[in-house]
Amino acid sequence: MPDDDLLQRLRSFQLDAFPQYREQFQTLVSEGQRPTTLFIGCSDSRLLPYLLTGAGPGELFLVRNVGAFVPPYDGSYGHHGTAAAIEFAVLNLDVSRIVVCGHSHCGAIKAMYGEVSPEAHNLQRWLDLGRAALLPVQPSPEAMRRTEQRAVVLQLERLMDYPMVRRRVEQGRITLHGWHYVIEDGEVHVFDVESGGFVAASKAENSGTGPYPPYVEHDGQILVD
Ligand SMILES: [Zn+2]
Repeated sequence: MPDDDLLQRLRSFQLDAFPQYREQFQTLVSEGQRPTTLFIGCSDSRLLPYLLTGAGPGELFLVRNVGAFVPPYDGSYGHHGTAAAIEFAVLNLDVSRIVVCGHSHCGAIKAMYGEVSPEAHNLQRWLDLGRAALLPVQPSPEAMRRTEQRAVVLQLERLMDYPMVRRRVEQGRITLHGWHYVIEDGEVHVFDVESGGFVAASKAENSGTGPYPPYVEHDGQILVD
């Protein structure tokens, strides 16, 4: 049997890393967590939310899934892990920021252009949440990049269908942040809702999308709840 390196890592965490955070964790336990940010990111192993944002313990409420997708708020009320996390982060934790973070070379986006194992029934269905971002072209590197970014915007729009999110965004209590992380450059590109484009963080004026327009019903009446 090979060395259990994971066990070694668990031991060295407690011995070497934990002591420097001990007090912080103890405070977070006695006072509870109060993260300001809900971070919805792709499960990709090359996306490291803590490293990217410089966040420490207690700062990020993390949801990760294949593609960084947001399921529709469609009244089906099933075993929807991501939807449950959004509700918890907004209603219980009262987060003030929601980040949706996609990235370059995303396997989920690639899979939508290619083939998925026929045995992966759940994955097939899950990828439906990104299909509206697909472009009717050959999947070139440029097309992939654009699709990855379009997928982020799509999730933000779906996020705005969650009544508790929309309400707070319109009240200015929550800001939305659509990010596309370019792994090889170490740079996040930020979605700006006004220009409709992604701006490199080095050139962007802020990390958020800017104000979303208020929701307008089909009869022209602005929804206030
Ligand atoms: Zn990905």
